[in-house]
Amino acid sequence: GIIDVLTKAVVVQDSENREYNRSILDQSRRLEEITLLDDLKRVKLAIVKEVEQLREAVREKEARDGAKIQKLSQQVAVLKVELQSVRSESERDGLTQALNRRSFDRLLADLTARNTVKAEEVALLMIDIDDFKRVNDQYGHLTGDSVLAAVVNKCRQSTRGEDVLARYGGEEFCILLPGASLRNAVKKGRQICESIAATRYLLEGMPTKETIGITVSIGVSALRRGDTSASLVERADKALYLAKHSGKNRAVSEKEVK
Ligand code: GH3
Ligand code: MG
Ligand code: MG
Repeated sequence: GIIDVLTKAVVVQDSENREYNRSILDQSRRLEEITLLDDLKRVKLAIVKEVEQLREAVREKEARDGAKIQKLSQQVAVLKVELQSVRSESERDGLTQALNRRSFDRLLADLTARNTVKAEEVALLMIDIDDFKRVNDQYGHLTGDSVLAAVVNKCRQSTRGEDVLARYGGEEFCILLPGASLRNAVKKGRQICESIAATRYLLEGMPTKETIGITVSIGVSALRRGDTSASLVERADKALYLAKHSGKNRAVSEKEVK
């Protein structure tokens, strides 16, 4: 009976323990053949020894497996952190850390897909820096880049946690305002215009500590029932166009577009 149990225990171990398994099976076979008490004693001793070795082997294997599992869990934890950081990097624009265009498009598509039953209150600000070409032409692209990042920071300061700030194109940005009516979004747009215009921007890489003023124009639209991403963006775009053509440095509502 004991040999049976031991044999089964050995069988479930992996190949490293097959030696012991074979040895116990040999003893078991011998046990069937013996007639003398001496033989029986010898077999018993051999089995005790084998069992002891088997125990030791199992203990060693468990210790090795434990160490291996611990190492693997640590590697998995590191990979999880790396994956998270790569994922978040792939969603962001490198220069400004705003959401990139691809992620913004996906987010907006999800939002408008849910919009078939009931219009959610969501507003869109389409922001374009005024006369940005002049900044580049006058001070170079690197300075232009730092101004871009500074303008995004100003926008970020004016948004709340649930708002989505994205880089839509070169010097164009979008802010999605969940829960905002058109009226409130226009108000927010005006605040952003004012706060950006009220700031002086230090020109990086210039020998003198020169500062410049920057303004932005903003077009505002709000989600309507049946809107697609394209129709919502198009109305904000038209409002932005009107903001540019009526003097820049202002936020214009889609309602003002004829
Ligand atoms: P407007 O007031 O009509 O918007 O005039 P603008 O000069 O801002 O508009 P325009 O579209 O003519 O020029 C945008 C400029 O933005 C042109 C391009 O060189 C610059 N730009 C786009 N992306 C970047 C960028 O990543 N870095 C820098 N430095 N400049 C960029
Ligand atoms: Mg532009
Ligand atoms: Mg521009």
